[in-house]
Amino acid sequence: MKVYKFGGASVCNAAGVRNVMDIVSKEQEPLVVVVSAMGKTTNAMEEVLHHYLEGNDAAVSTRLEQIRQMHVQIMDGLSLSDRTRFDDVFAMLVSVLGRRTPADSYERSYDEIVSHGELLSTAIVASYARQCGIDAEWIDMRRMLVTDGRHREASVDFDASTLNLRRAVGCGARLFVMQGFIGGTPSGHPTTLGREGSDYTAAAVASMLDCHSVTIWKDVDGILSADPRIFPSATLIDRLSYIDAVELAYSGAQIIHPKTIKPLHNKNIPLYVRPFAAPDRPGSCICNFDDYTPPAMPVLILKRNQILISIEPKDFSFVLEESLASVFATLNSYRQKVNMVQNSAVRISVSVDASRYFADLVADLQRDFSVRYNDNLELLTIRGYTPEVVERESAGHTIYIRQQTRRSIRLLRDTVPVA
Ligand code: ASP
Ligand code: MG
Repeated sequence: MKVYKFGGASVCNAAGVRNVMDIVSKEQEPLVVVVSAMGKTTNAMEEVLHHYLEGNDAAVSTRLEQIRQMHVQIMDGLSLSDRTRFDDVFAMLVSVLGRRTPADSYERSYDEIVSHGELLSTAIVASYARQCGIDAEWIDMRRMLVTDGRHREASVDFDASTLNLRRAVGCGARLFVMQGFIGGTPSGHPTTLGREGSDYTAAAVASMLDCHSVTIWKDVDGILSADPRIFPSATLIDRLSYIDAVELAYSGAQIIHPKTIKPLHNKNIPLYVRPFAAPDRPGSCICNFDDYTPPAMPVLILKRNQILISIEPKDFSFVLEESLASVFATLNSYRQKVNMVQNSAVRISVSVDASRYFADLVADLQRDFSVRYNDNLELLTIRGYTPEVVERESAGHTIYIRQQTRRSIRLLRDTVPVA
């Protein structure tokens, strides 16, 4: 069995869904297809959520109708005759939004509502597959992928989910259509795994079902050595080791969700990244090979919107010995992703993503520490660096922190406006 994952861009219109079915129908063995919400539906669902929480019924209806129309247009474009599943899912969404009282927290409402993007897209893909004569099963991942209750960032319970999934694929269909990004708690509350989490779903499912491989079909040729919109000299990397892939994803590479690599590495399952617009091209492969060979060319990853926080115990105590655990516990409780850590005797500096919780975090830390910060920074990671690339990327910038190993250099630098 194999897993194919299709992101929002690959199913943003009827031609996209038809192309997905072309790719899928070439596959002989049973296949799991993990699908994201269509196009920018997740963003649209987030808007619906905000209107809902503000109690703005008119705005909810307008946005919801736009979402429905977008999907209807795709179904019309496919001449889809059986729309029962889609209609059921949409009715479910309408009924959740019709409830006057939102769930008890922002996070829980988010998961309840936003998860419908994937439910709608897979309803269409599964019905269309059947219309094309493929024996396809629609799987509701809210009941299949068991997670904890950390809403918007849930962790998957691999043991419980494996049992469910094995049972589900045991029916012997040819195609299993699953939602990426969403799961559910044992007590039946929908959860989500974090934005762009569908890649992780694909990897988790592949690991649970001991699949031969995962293929992520994307709107680019494969993994590039940098984001071509920022670094025009970017080129295709045909092969990348798990270790480089996980480091790059963690550093902010948009190509795959950072959590994707671990389950694949643990079971030695290769991950292909291939262009859905040119399915004959090989793309890139992330797999197990000599992990000590640096990438064949410098790979550059830029993570924007960084804030450097400097934290000092007020009583001048040694920070590593006495405060490290409490600083990180506080960061974690505000869900701050820490991207870089640097310390001296009495100071710890961390670079975090700017977030809606930042002001609260600083207020909390200030009870025990003196806290200063610099915002509007960016973190550049260069893996397999050369002196020329480092020189080029440092020039004209103030470098706040520079960390170097034999394999990579990370520069926390100011954002220089493009001339
Ligand atoms: N639809 C979700 C998002 O846009 C998950 C994903 O696409 O991976 O973040
Ligand atoms: Mg996506």
